[in-house]
Amino acid sequence: ARGASLTDLAEKIGVDPAALVQVLFHLGEMVTATQSVADETLQVLGAELNYDIEVVSPEDEDRELLESFDIEFGENEGGEEELAARPPVVTVMGHVDHGKTKLLDALRKSNVAGGEAGGITQSIGAYQVATEVDDQERKITFIDTPGHEAFTAMRARGAKSTDIAVLVVAADDGVMPQTIEALNHAQAADLPIVVAVNKIDKEGADPTKVRGQLTEYGLVPEEYGGDTIFVDVSAITGVGLDELLEAIVLTADAALDLRANPEMDAQGVAIEAHLDKGRGPVATVLVQRGTLHVGDSIVAGPAHGRVRALLNDSGENVTEAPPSMPVQVLGLTAVPGAGDSFIVVDDDRTARQIADKREARARMAAQAAGARRKTLDQLFEQ
Ligand code: GDP
Ligand code: MG
Repeated sequence: ARGASLTDLAEKIGVDPAALVQVLFHLGEMVTATQSVADETLQVLGAELNYDIEVVSPEDEDRELLESFDIEFGENEGGEEELAARPPVVTVMGHVDHGKTKLLDALRKSNVAGGEAGGITQSIGAYQVATEVDDQERKITFIDTPGHEAFTAMRARGAKSTDIAVLVVAADDGVMPQTIEALNHAQAADLPIVVAVNKIDKEGADPTKVRGQLTEYGLVPEEYGGDTIFVDVSAITGVGLDELLEAIVLTADAALDLRANPEMDAQGVAIEAHLDKGRGPVATVLVQRGTLHVGDSIVAGPAHGRVRALLNDSGENVTEAPPSMPVQVLGLTAVPGAGDSFIVVDDDRTARQIADKREARARMAAQAAGARRKTLDQLFEQ
């Protein structure tokens, strides 16, 4: 266990904690029995005592915790026949000032139902857009994460939050360092990429040059015989926005099998969360499997609670949220972190127990980090 104390270890291997303190003392480390110690120290100690100490990653530990409540995170319950199509989840990435925010705004505005344009109530950090492809209405979920904080956090945890990356490149500026960074992120996460060549309304815009530059990085446009869709757009004039939406749908259909079980207890990920003066903790979550309902018992990272209200991306109350829908959740006891998973559980008691265990663990880990820092400080004092 991470951040375990000598007492924890002593209990596991059935020895007197004082004996462990003594062994460590002889190895040159002064630690009390109840203090949490670094993983490395536990391993050194184990080796000394001929025990093979396995340090479990926080992810594995959490999985075990959930399993002890008979919960599996990340899997659709049931068989093929339980699965239904869900909208793709898209993250917009690219170099600073290349127009990510503007493009997201434009896509959203162009979609707001008649008359409401400009009257967008609030941004919840994610929203859905509907478009028509082959006479069918298709939804697309966009995640707008400044700095891709949640994206990075989720990737570090091996959770997949995004299905497709839209790489925004300004046609007047071309490929820049963060363009490459974003591209590397997307490729590392194995995401299909759609390139939006933005700002084509500007003087000096050179969309052909952008295609040439990205070809060097392995993104070969379809028109050059490759398999990446490039769409020329302007977030200011609105040119190319429909084509961009269509390209996303086509990419989803061609490369991905996007289905989820809408009937199970909801699971997903927190995209953003904050403490609101009037409403308490407010979390925007993306439902990945199942359907989230008002009244559900929920645990999100170290936070738990009963869903008091759900708000959609226009700030309207909804009673439920199906797979791929981003929604604001009210009713949590604390603020979860961006990238934390959420799960609906049978009852409030289960939610509280899981949250309490996670919090205790986080406390221990923080203590252990503190202990490590202390050892280093002592080292520098000498
Ligand atoms: P971000 O840092 O990638 O989110 O970039 P922003 O969306 O904040 O845009 C940076 C600047 O570029 C802003 O001043 C936008 O108004 C401008 N901009 C964004 N898209 C376009 C476009 O298509 N055409 C023009 N002319 N300007 C744009
Ligand atoms: Mg921005």
